[in-house]
Amino acid sequence: MTRPPLPSALPQTDLTRHRRLREQGSLERTDLHAILDAGFVCHLGVTVEGRPLVVPTVYGRDERQLYLHGSVASRSLAGGTRVCVTVTHVDGLVLARSVFEHGVNYRSAIIHGTARKVTDPDEKLEGLRRLTEHATPGQWAYARRPNRKELAATTLLALSLEEASVKIRTGAPEDGDGPDAELGLWAGVLPLTSTWGAPVPDPVLPPDLPVPAHIARREGTRHG
Ligand SMILES: Cc1cc2nc3c(=O)[nH]c(=O)nc-3n(C[C@H](O)[C@H](O)[C@H](O)COP(=O)(O)OP(=O)(O)OC[C@H]3O[C@@H](n4cnc5c(N)ncnc54)[C@H](O)[C@@H]3O)c2cc1C
Repeated sequence: MTRPPLPSALPQTDLTRHRRLREQGSLERTDLHAILDAGFVCHLGVTVEGRPLVVPTVYGRDERQLYLHGSVASRSLAGGTRVCVTVTHVDGLVLARSVFEHGVNYRSAIIHGTARKVTDPDEKLEGLRRLTEHATPGQWAYARRPNRKELAATTLLALSLEEASVKIRTGAPEDGDGPDAELGLWAGVLPLTSTWGAPVPDPVLPPDLPVPAHIARREGTRHG
């Protein structure tokens, strides 16, 4: 059964309502999707044995859920607990006249929810496909897929994209029309971009094995 899409506006709940720097908040689900699609590493915040733990990890998604995976031995992937996932893209340093007004141009998303351990074999395989394709489109069809033993050694978590928030900052420093403008100091934005480099073949490969097109074509393209 196909479930209806999540609402196009992000919900304003006790958890997601922006309290500070509210003007940077966006309630557009399309902005959430764009931020998730621009990256593939998130930070998973979880409580393990009563202590906070924030773990960098890769992710994939469909229209309704984020997928995270790892070893069945991973304590951060226990599932069934409240988690918080953050994705951040830094677009530049905002260098103001005063240190107080310095900032960062960024796009970030925070997703709150209870992570569910995926046990249905078909759903697990589909989640792993999404995750693989998210980082490297075309790789699920190219690489050997997980066998039964590897699947058993892998935990897949699904986290609903329902309760999520987005913040985006763009533009110049904010002290250009204040008293500090008289200081005569340079101020502005130092942009930051990251691009994919040239593929480096495994040294043990035969030299005539070409780089697959779906990998080669990313060289020089922007990430983030
Ligand atoms: C790269 C980067 C660097 C930053 N550096 C600083 C800094 O040095 N100092 C500083 O004060 N702030 C910084 N921020 C902004 C920071 O992330 C918070 O938005 C801000 O500090 C408000 O925090 P708060 O706890 O008062 O949020 P609140 O407004 O109380 O948070 C309420 C809810 O809003 C949502 N929310 C809050 N922040 C974000 C976010 N960034 N993205 C998506 N949803 C969000 C969450 O769902 C959260 O539960 C930075 C952001 C980024 C991406």
